[in-house]
Amino acid sequence: MLLEEVEYVRPTNLEDALAVLADVDGAAPLAGGQSLVNVLKNRVASVDLLVDISRLAELRTIKRTPGGGLDVGACVTYDELDRSPLVRESHFTLGEVAAHIEDQQIRNKGTIGGNCCLSDPTNNLPPILVALDAVMNLRSTSARRSVQAAEFFKGYFATALESGELLVSVTVPPMPARSGAGYASLLVAADAKAMARAAAWIQLGTGGLTITSARVALARVANVPVRDAGVEARLVGAEASDAAVRDACSVAAEGLRPIDDVHGSSHYRLEMARVMAHRAVMQAVDQATAGRNGSESARRGGRA
Ligand SMILES: Cc1cc2nc3c(=O)[nH]c(=O)nc-3n(C[C@H](O)[C@H](O)[C@H](O)COP(=O)(O)OP(=O)(O)OC[C@H]3O[C@@H](n4cnc5c(N)ncnc54)[C@H](O)[C@@H]3O)c2cc1C
Repeated sequence: MLLEEVEYVRPTNLEDALAVLADVDGAAPLAGGQSLVNVLKNRVASVDLLVDISRLAELRTIKRTPGGGLDVGACVTYDELDRSPLVRESHFTLGEVAAHIEDQQIRNKGTIGGNCCLSDPTNNLPPILVALDAVMNLRSTSARRSVQAAEFFKGYFATALESGELLVSVTVPPMPARSGAGYASLLVAADAKAMARAAAWIQLGTGGLTITSARVALARVANVPVRDAGVEARLVGAEASDAAVRDACSVAAEGLRPIDDVHGSSHYRLEMARVMAHRAVMQAVDQATAGRNGSESARRGGRA
């Protein structure tokens, strides 16, 4: 279907974009347009004004934060995330997740902000951002606020964004020494949506193989990525061995009821969530013990 006629503006700075979004009822930000334009073409939703934010310089940068974290502008594309030397240097897994999203055309246009603001439960970036404990920085004409990634995703295509607000950047905390991240997805076909997905971050104690801190985010078991407090509690204090991690992950997604559909039963999805959690945590352990951001071990994870 063709796109219906719609008004379009391309503000030249962030302040102007925020002002238009505040002033015009029915205005919506347009980033990569990969999802929004399809939604409009299919008449699933309509907007009165598209506010193109994709070229705003303020939203296109990746900066190092003073502590060694990253501040990623909302309109940074997946390809830019993947190719960024800063991302590769300290947050390899984040770059690797972006590198494996769909195909090159999607990676050239799709943005970290669009991927998060859409809050599609099948999207790749939300779970890794939750596991990395990222912070979403929001702005409107009158206020600035920050929301933890784990609180930002509210439901199926729903976020903490309020009317007139833009996500301007995503701050990812530093990866301390002896910490690592991992990401694992189960795909039933090369171009299918993931059936189960997990992202993990762990910290090992100095000199030993004891896990001292852990974050595990599961996706596809609920409408939003969820931190698994049960698994995290079992990981902390455990030895970072395959057997101990498998045991900790055996309770993943407890109390959740993933959907039952033609692709797989709820029970199968739960089992696969446990397998993905184990794989993601073991990748994180590999990174942490490698003493760097684990480029080789993360690469073994394959397509995101
Ligand atoms: C064929 C195809 C395959 C795909 N496969 C994958 C895949 O495997 N994995 C994956 O993760 N994604 C996939 N996607 C989705 C794609 O990554 C989209 O680009 C993404 O979901 C939305 O990003 P966007 O920058 O295109 O945002 P847009 O489509 O421009 O916007 C999406 C929504 O977010 C809002 N928005 C955008 N930016 C902001 C902001 N800064 N502040 C506030 N609101 C904002 C828009 O108003 C809109 O409601 C696929 C898309 C297509 C078309």
